Amino acid sequence: MRELTILKLGGSAVTDKSKELTPDLLSIYRAVDEVAGFKRSLILLHGGGSFAHPFARKAGLQKGYTNARQLKAFAETELYLEQLSRIIMVALLQRNTPAVRVHPMSSVVTTDGRVVRTFLEPFERALGLGVLPVSHGDVVFDTRRGFNILSADKLALLLGLRFKASRVLFGSDVNGVFTRDPKKDENQTLIPEVNKRNLKQILRSLRGSPTSRSQDVTGGMAGKVIEAVELARNGTESIIFNLKREGALEALLSENTDYWENVECTRFPAWARKS
Ligand code: ADP
Repeated sequence: MRELTILKLGGSAVTDKSKELTPDLLSIYRAVDEVAGFKRSLILLHGGGSFAHPFARKAGLQKGYTNARQLKAFAETELYLEQLSRIIMVALLQRNTPAVRVHPMSSVVTTDGRVVRTFLEPFERALGLGVLPVSHGDVVFDTRRGFNILSADKLALLLGLRFKASRVLFGSDVNGVFTRDPKKDENQTLIPEVNKRNLKQILRSLRGSPTSRSQDVTGGMAGKVIEAVELARNGTESIIFNLKREGALEALLSENTDYWENVECTRFPAWARKS
């Protein structure tokens, strides 16, 4: 597949994480405006934010099946994630962008959290038809744990590798990876590039900082860095940027690559050629 871009709308940017089931409509509509204007191959993913994490956390869904009481939250999380997807899909349709939802629970099965079986052909078929595939972080079935959480970041990695994407854009609510959580301490500095030389040191500082893992059940910023590095190692460039900052997504989706340079973000240049 040529020149595929994967764009992930972070749950922290498209929902208000402090209030259950609350979309950030301004952020969603702004992002969708840019997506509707993008005429090349794209897969759109979104995180769960306040439509998933509070319910998953309360029921301990990230631990897998431990008791029957979890099943209500398991089903609820599915339902709420679909609602968030629908808000995004309606906005896309209103902008004349035909989009279909590809359901991760029906596409991926894990064993102890490791992806073991996938059925990703619908993504390819949708792209082939010129319809935008939309997917999201989800609860998926796990052969040992019963169920497991597949973050949208992990899904971005999976799809990026499978379809040899040229770029994966991770939109969040911060400008990129900082020395420490910028929301806790505004004196932190942005790390503009993660590469072979500085990776070890960055991972050490992220792992050492409990805030890097956030209240999310999916790994927070540290998890995102790990997925982005894996993409870079396999020849796909990725970028963590601030989806809430006006103009950032527009510049990153622009055909004029000079505009990309103007965006404050963290880049993970491809380390190797795609095999
Ligand atoms: P998203 O929902 O956008 O996928 P996450 O909530 O998983 O993003 O991770 C983004 C959050 O990670 C930011 O809101 C920020 O507060 C937090 N964070 C923790 N440590 C860092 C760090 N070193 N650099 C940047 N952000 C960090």
